[in-house]
Amino acid sequence: MFYTSTRNKSIKVTASQAIAQGISEEGGLFVPCEIPQVSLDTVGKMVSMPYTERAKTILKEYLTDFSEEELDYCVEGAYAAEKFSSDKIAPTVCVNKNENILELWHGPTCAFKDMALQLLPYLMTVSAKKTAEGKTIVILVATSGDTGKAALEGFKDVENTKILVFYPVDGVSPMQKLQMTTQEGENVAVCAIKGNFDDAQSAVKSIFTNDDIKAKLAEKNMMFSSANSINWGRLVPQIVYYFSTYCDLLDTGKIALGDEINVVVPTGNFGNILAAYYAKRMGLPIKKLVCASNSNNVLTDFLTSGYYNKNREFFTTTSPSMDILISSNLERLLYHISGDDDALVSDLMNKLSSNGEYKVSDKLINDIKELFAAGYCDEKSVFATIKEQFDDYGYLCDTHTAVAVSVYLDYVKNTNDDIPTVIDSTASPYKFSASVLDAVTGEKSTLDEFDIVDELSKVTKTSVPKPLQALKEKNVRFTQVCSKENMSDMVFTLLNL
Ligand SMILES: *Cc1c(COP(=O)(O)O)cnc(C)c1O
Repeated sequence: MFYTSTRNKSIKVTASQAIAQGISEEGGLFVPCEIPQVSLDTVGKMVSMPYTERAKTILKEYLTDFSEEELDYCVEGAYAAEKFSSDKIAPTVCVNKNENILELWHGPTCAFKDMALQLLPYLMTVSAKKTAEGKTIVILVATSGDTGKAALEGFKDVENTKILVFYPVDGVSPMQKLQMTTQEGENVAVCAIKGNFDDAQSAVKSIFTNDDIKAKLAEKNMMFSSANSINWGRLVPQIVYYFSTYCDLLDTGKIALGDEINVVVPTGNFGNILAAYYAKRMGLPIKKLVCASNSNNVLTDFLTSGYYNKNREFFTTTSPSMDILISSNLERLLYHISGDDDALVSDLMNKLSSNGEYKVSDKLINDIKELFAAGYCDEKSVFATIKEQFDDYGYLCDTHTAVAVSVYLDYVKNTNDDIPTVIDSTASPYKFSASVLDAVTGEKSTLDEFDIVDELSKVTKTSVPKPLQALKEKNVRFTQVCSKENMSDMVFTLLNL
């Protein structure tokens, strides 16, 4: 199995090259040259397997240059039982009739990014051994909150890696800040920067491409890499849980082998829903992929009209991880749906970066519409949905999940397509306690962050996830703040160069 680039299909690399390199030289994203097939017979056999075995069954189809021992090491390390608060790793909960929720937030940071970022460090170090002669990998992250913490937890004390995270000093929630500044591990460092997320992001990008810095790193047998969601190593772990949820629905008798399901995904960068698309292409019986957006509904417009336009008002919402106007992973879908048309993808991506817009042909958008449905949900509906799901079914969901549930309910109303459906839940309600508490009680709370958490627990009779509870007792380790101009010096300091 080889990988090529969405913008130049003459490129051919192995899985480990794609993962170690992250992004193709000309700016394209790595995609599998052909999509492996998994038979229903195999899916049936996966029902009795634990999550780790299900993961190996799917991953070995894509990571063909990993040995069985290497894959064992990666998967058993990433999804070790003590790191997750559910022994199913990603449990499926039936909320009401055909409405099932796939909870992807039982990992160490209580957000779905853990599903990929627990495995990525293992995939990356094994890949580096094969392709980069065992160099120490230095992961640089600019974060607006969730990714930074999930990456820190994932790379913490992983051999031959170091991770440095920069966050905007006034740009993250108190809970997110505390999650990062109390991070444990010998190979981690965290620093606030005076500036916003874009400042942190551009500074990180310029450090990545600075030849002097790269040369200094090389002298010490180190190299930079990135943990963001354009890396194939972050996408491939996400395919697994679609197979796993299907197996769980089989196991509880909600469906029979071969029955179709719908999947609804709260979407930002289009990574999670793209993983569901790969699962479908591999043979998993998925009928519709329903893309749910918040008020930043650029994807809803594209998936219904074929016209992508990021030149629009940007809304700051209560589902911040979906506040995105450029969904990077859409590029991979365009490549596959257009029949591997790398010239077309290059052209569209050039238009996007120069004018912020592009339009695809009627044929292309009709082919997309065969597979995808789309909808969005405003802030009022987010709050109403959280309250309704809790009052009617006793199910407490976070703001991102509420976007997906609201879009699901609209979809069923508009289409009468009410077959068994899996809705992705991407964060613990306790990560967004303030909004969730306001939604449930119907009034604005004035308590501080930890009191809100306790109040939410009291009002809803649900328990606070241990990793968030434990933050109260942890010591703050990282208090450095630097200007954006001094970030590269800070990198040297933190790496002891
Ligand atoms: C990252 C994130 C999303 C968006 O996922 P994509 O793969 O970028 O579409 C949704 N919800 C939460 C809580 C997230 O952290």
